[in-house]
Amino acid sequence: MKAIVFDKHGGPEVLQYREVARPTVKEDEVLIAVKACALNHLDIWIRNGLPGIQISLPHILGCESAGVVCEVGRKIKSVKVGDDVLIVPGISCGRCEFCKKNRDSLCPEFNIVGFRTDGGYAEFVKAPARNAIKISDQLSYAEWAATPLCFLTAWHMLFTRANLQKGEKVLIHAAGSGVGSAAIQLARWKKAFVITTAGSDGKLKKAKKLGAQEVINYTQKDIAQEVKRITHGKGVDVVLEHIGPQTWAQSLASLGRGGRLVTCGATSGPQVTLDLRFCFSRELSISGCYMGSRKELDQVIKLVKSGKVKPIVDTVVPLVAAAQAQAKMENRQFFGKLVLEP
Ligand SMILES: [Zn+2]
Repeated sequence: MKAIVFDKHGGPEVLQYREVARPTVKEDEVLIAVKACALNHLDIWIRNGLPGIQISLPHILGCESAGVVCEVGRKIKSVKVGDDVLIVPGISCGRCEFCKKNRDSLCPEFNIVGFRTDGGYAEFVKAPARNAIKISDQLSYAEWAATPLCFLTAWHMLFTRANLQKGEKVLIHAAGSGVGSAAIQLARWKKAFVITTAGSDGKLKKAKKLGAQEVINYTQKDIAQEVKRITHGKGVDVVLEHIGPQTWAQSLASLGRGGRLVTCGATSGPQVTLDLRFCFSRELSISGCYMGSRKELDQVIKLVKSGKVKPIVDTVVPLVAAAQAQAKMENRQFFGKLVLEP
């Protein structure tokens, strides 16, 4: 099969389009003919190389795929050849104390398709059968591929970790990111008040179309000052943070008394500072989010199927152009998700 493969870590130039062996499935796995695979920032971190984490090379990226089942292991009854499915990115043991409490992403054996196993930047990808969810034709393969990771992460951040309530105010950074565009819709579905940021007026316009009530162009205005102005000095109840040092101070300064900050990423770097006096005297909460559980994903998929929220696809490009698509992602020239099509 054709795939995008890399033999060493580095920039987009290490990605090669070439012929590799088709995966063979075990008795509890399925093989999918990939119709679409969405890009994630995680792909770039893995490609660059993560300190302290070894992955076997050559490697195929791609955590979010949708396609058609073309082979099933002999034990499998949940899906059959010909079914349209999406692949749930998180792989967990299903037996440990965390899995039993529906906190799959804390499972000691937790893995993500395309991280420590080969992913969907290919004509075929395999996964445990329990990771294949049947999809409907109301959305395209590209839209389905753009759904699981960002919607699940946004759901877990907003509702499970931050416990966002109807009528509360939330600051969502980077409206154009996968998580941002999903979070705006989910927060509005919950009837929360959404303030979001982006680096261009074009993106802010799109954010408003998604339902954001207030938008801030972070290249022109100070985010925390704008949040204070919009909230009449009170600050927001919740901040969704996934940028890191570039926005951290602004995120904290935007929080009102008793505010909750949730972080799921560090696209501008891993190190930030925190003034503890500010944190305890205002009773702030800071929590982390690492994807979410299968149970939450099932709720998200149900909501997507109801049409109340919709995955936003920026562009679909041929698999062979994966390097250009990743460069586009690194330069933040997109709104929603970039999707590859083998
Ligand atoms: Zn487990």
